[in-house]
This record gives sequence, C-alpha cells and structure tokens, in this order.
Amino acid sequence: RSAEVVILGAGPAGLVLGNLLHRAGIDCVVLERADRARLHARARAGFLAEHTVRVLDRHGLADGLHRRGRPHATCEFRTGDGRFRLDYAGLGRGERHTVYPQQHLVADLLTSYLAAGGRLHFATEAHRVLDTDGERPTVEASGPDGRPVRWRARYVAGCDGRHGAARRSLPPGAVVHHHDHGLSWLGLLAEAPPSLDAVGYAVHEHGFAGHMARTPEITRYYLQCDRGTPPEAWSEEHIWRELDLRMRAAEHGPLHRGSIVQRTVVDLECDVVEPLRHGALLLAGDAASLLTPSAAKGANLAVLEAELLAAALVDEIAHGDGRALDGYSGRCLEYIWRAQEFSHWMVRLLHAAPTPHGVPSSFDEGLRRARLAALRTSRAQQDWFAENYVGL
Ligand code: FAD
Repeated sequence: RSAEVVILGAGPAGLVLGNLLHRAGIDCVVLERADRARLHARARAGFLAEHTVRVLDRHGLADGLHRRGRPHATCEFRTGDGRFRLDYAGLGRGERHTVYPQQHLVADLLTSYLAAGGRLHFATEAHRVLDTDGERPTVEASGPDGRPVRWRARYVAGCDGRHGAARRSLPPGAVVHHHDHGLSWLGLLAEAPPSLDAVGYAVHEHGFAGHMARTPEITRYYLQCDRGTPPEAWSEEHIWRELDLRMRAAEHGPLHRGSIVQRTVVDLECDVVEPLRHGALLLAGDAASLLTPSAAKGANLAVLEAELLAAALVDEIAHGDGRALDGYSGRCLEYIWRAQEFSHWMVRLLHAAPTPHGVPSSFDEGLRRARLAALRTSRAQQDWFAENYVGL
C-alpha cells in the first residue's frame, strides 16, 4: 500500500494535517490505533487560543466550535492571602480562549475529513517507520485483524503522541530534551456544571487544585497528588473534601458536586525533540513536544504545527519547493520553547519545587509567593501573563 504522505495518529495534529493535505489534492492516509468511538470519548484539552481558532477558521474547520464553544477570559487565583482575578481579554494582546472540548474538535475534524473523501484506517497501529533517510520510507503497522500491513510513503508525519511509533523510530542522533517536575496531578472530569465563571487556580498547603469549565454539564478539576498515586486511590468523598478545602469553598462559595466520570494521573513531565525533521519523518503535536497541562498549550501547538507542516508539504510535493519544509523544524521550535518556558513558569507559580524528602523548601515557597504577588499587583506582569497565557 502507498500514499505520498502517511499520517500516524488522528488527534488534533494528524487530523488538521490530513484535512489540509487532502483539500490541497495531496494523496495522504491517516493510520489511527483507536476506533472511532474511542476517539469521540477521549476527553483531554478544552481551552483553544485565538490563534487556533483563526487557523481552523481559515480552513473552514471551525463551524462546530463557533456553534458550541464558549468564549472565556477570566482566571482566578486563590491562596491563603485571599483571591484575585485577571480578566485577560483586557490585558496583553486582548485575546481570549474558546472553551471547546478536544473530543468535540476531533469529532468535527474527522467528519470533515471523511466527508471530503479522506482516507483513514481506524484500529490500525503503527509499529515502526523504516528507511526514513531513503527515497521511500515504510511504515510497519498492524490492521484491525492484527495482520501486518506495510505502507510506503514519500513522507511520514508522526502525529501519534509521545508514546507513538514516530518517537520509537527516531534515529540515534535525535536529541530529546526532557524535564520531570517531580509533581503529579489527579485529572478529574466531574458530571457537574462549572462552579465559577473563571479558571480557578488554588494554592494550598495540601497542594494545588484547579477548576476548568468544559461544558455546562461537565467540569475538569485537578488535584495535586503524590507521584505514583493510582487514579482509583481516592474515594469520591475524599476528592470533593480535598477540592472544597484547597479551593477554599467555605470562604469563596461551594463547588457544584457530581459524579466523577474520568480520572487520570498526569505526571508533570515535558520534553522537546530536536530537530522535528529526520529525513522523510516529520513530527508534530505531542510527538514533537510534550507539555504539562499547566498552561493549556499542547492542543494549540499541535494545530499550529499541523498548519505549518501542511503548507510546507504542499510546497514541496505540489510545487517542488522544499524551503518551507527545510525551515519547518526551526520555525516550530521557536514556538515550542516559548510555550515550554511559559508552562514551566506556570508550574513554578502554582507549586514550590519538590525536594527529595517531599517537603518544599521554605525558600522556594517564598519565591512562589513572590511570583503570585507580582502577578496580583503589577500591570506589566499581568500583560506579560495574558500575552503568554492565550498567545503562542
Ligand atoms: P493526541 O491527541 O495524543 O493524538 C495522537 C493520536 O495518535 C491518538 O488518537 C492515538 O490514539 C494515536 N496513536 C498513538 N500511537 C499510535 C500508533 N502507534 N499508531 C497509530 N496511532 C497511534 N492542551 C491544550 O492546548 N489545552 C488544554 O486545556 C489541555 N488540557 C489537557 C488536559 C489533560 C488531562 C491532558 C492529558 C492533556 C491536555 N492538553 C491540553 C494537551 C493536549 O490534549 C495534547 O497536547 C493534544 O492532544 C496533542 O494532540 P496530538 O494530535 O499531538 O496528539
């Protein structure tokens, strides 16, 4: 089997790329490990930056988002010293988020790609990409029946996340810059309406807690937990007790309770692969760089990179102009490192760095308090925050 471009993974990166290439008349195919029902159910991101909405708008992929997404532009910080709000649409570049669950975006992108006649194989797992330096790289995969399948391509786009086949196929010279914050969050979806009209970031001696709207019926919460905590370790009662305590519900108002319908433990780790191009293998999205969820950047970067990669591949395949493809990695890495830097700053705003014995040093705790105080009191700091929080 063959295609000019074989795309691994049908997440935001792979599907934006597939839609754009297919419309430009480039022969491509998407291989996706999961089945369609699983993709529709995979709840992760929810906060889309204005840049992301502009990309999706430019290519006619934003109808669902405009119909069902909601604008969002406030965050609230809660600490032992009280609370403060930032209305970030009035700060920095004046941009806001659109809240639209990632699984809805993925469903929209799938519908549009398949309706336009795009080729996609569900339940097909890529194992390795071979001969990335040769003329015809090959993807070794297995289909829904478990039988091996080989795809020959001119280019392979690795959009299959951090644990995918693209990462496993990197040549020995590839550098993966990795950082582990040593912190973990229990990520929760509650069947309950949002409890405040803002993203809530709470800093408490028990650890961080976060509140993020998803839909009028579903809210995402985060609770910092010890590394290695199994997702099922905390009872629902314990979860709500900790959320009430850390979000200081007694002081600032009750949280709307509901069943916990999803739990995942996210270790706050991040990495960057450098470069993003290895011969015919090109990386985008989480396959290129993993970010912590602290600043909601991952899905936004995935869309930005997919648009750049699509334009570069069209230039090269349809017009024989390889300049954009040569510059693809360098261009993306500028965005990636800026997003990594801001996400890192957010982690340090919300947690003191852990020490080997678990208790943060009082010095580091003092730095964290100073960061929050600067954000509360300095307009220049607030403008910088807003620009980086929503921007790319
Ligand atoms: P993915 O969405 O991971 O898609 C990769 C696809 O590849 C998947 O469908 C997978 O099934 C498939 N795949 C994997 N391996 C193979 C294989 N071997 N063969 C074939 N297919 C394969 N980002 C934000 O911007 N805003 C947020 O608010 C936000 N919140 C988050 C909350 C949580 C709890 C988490 C975990 C992440 C969050 N993120 C957020 C990050 C965001 O979800 C990711 O950055 C985003 O999904 C990256 O898109 P992607 O297309 O690169 O990868």
